[in-house]
Amino acid sequence: MDVYGLLGNPVEHSLSPPMHEAAYETLDIDARYVTFEPDENAGARAVESAATLDVAGLNVTIPFKQQVIEAVDPAPLAERIGAVNTIDFSTDPPTGYNTDAAGVVRSFTHHGVDLTGDAVVVGAGGAGRAVAFALADEGLTVHITNRTESKADDLAAAVAASHPDGDSAVMGYGLDALPDLVAEADLLVNATSVGMEEDRSPVPADVLHADLAVLDAVYSPLETRLLDDAAAAGATTVDGAWMLLFQGVEAFEQWTGRDAPVAEMNEALRTRV
Ligand code: NAP
Repeated sequence: MDVYGLLGNPVEHSLSPPMHEAAYETLDIDARYVTFEPDENAGARAVESAATLDVAGLNVTIPFKQQVIEAVDPAPLAERIGAVNTIDFSTDPPTGYNTDAAGVVRSFTHHGVDLTGDAVVVGAGGAGRAVAFALADEGLTVHITNRTESKADDLAAAVAASHPDGDSAVMGYGLDALPDLVAEADLLVNATSVGMEEDRSPVPADVLHADLAVLDAVYSPLETRLLDDAAAAGATTVDGAWMLLFQGVEAFEQWTGRDAPVAEMNEALRTRV
């Protein structure tokens, strides 16, 4: 039996175990998915221990996504983003991937969204980083807005530094730039925690429009104020469970080399969100 798991703190309410176990059951794979909750500074040591114990793969979440980099060989995208959320122990040293980025891209393509034009990313924290790198790599022009403007500028510079089109492909702003940017945008992603367990949106409703595709990374609740406003404006809406699903789908495919049973994983996730 193969053992996979999630490294995080806290992990108690994680939706990853039922999502991955649904995949094992569907494809008749002899595996289990468990959770590990080491001390907050023990991420790298936990990875070394997992390798010793023949764990096959780990997902990694807060607060360990940066810490574990020193214990793995990061794939190029994970190294550029500076965060690892998936570890494959079939190599020595283990390989670290970032599947949050692919999760964003696959969430949009699954909904038939054309990944061209201008994207506005609200937020420059962990989720914002993965989103900004992912969309810039797809060739979109990425406008990063953040409450703390200097963090948006720093993230834009980091993305531009590893992008062939440099500064013309990605730029940083404060939140006051949002209305003008959204009016001209094709894609909008909320990568802040605004809207989590609260009826509040980070984007004024009156700037949303029908030519926009809107992804909200927040998945609690699934139907956020932003997505409600976006739907009312006629925009395409993509909720945060899709991003969670497709980062898991990518991790599963990385570990097993098989196509993930997306529908079954989605059902397992959505019945528990
Ligand atoms: P993080 O690293 O702590 O970043 C938080 C971001 O939210 C920062 O940009 C912060 O701005 C901004 N923010 C916080 N409070 C704000 C407020 N009142 N007004 C405006 N901006 C505010 O967190 P994270 O890991 O990126 O997570 C962000 C959200 O994405 C969370 O809701 C998380 O659950 C969700 N998420 C979803 C997925 C998924 O798969 N669906 C994956 C990862 C994260 P400052 O820089 O100014 O503080």
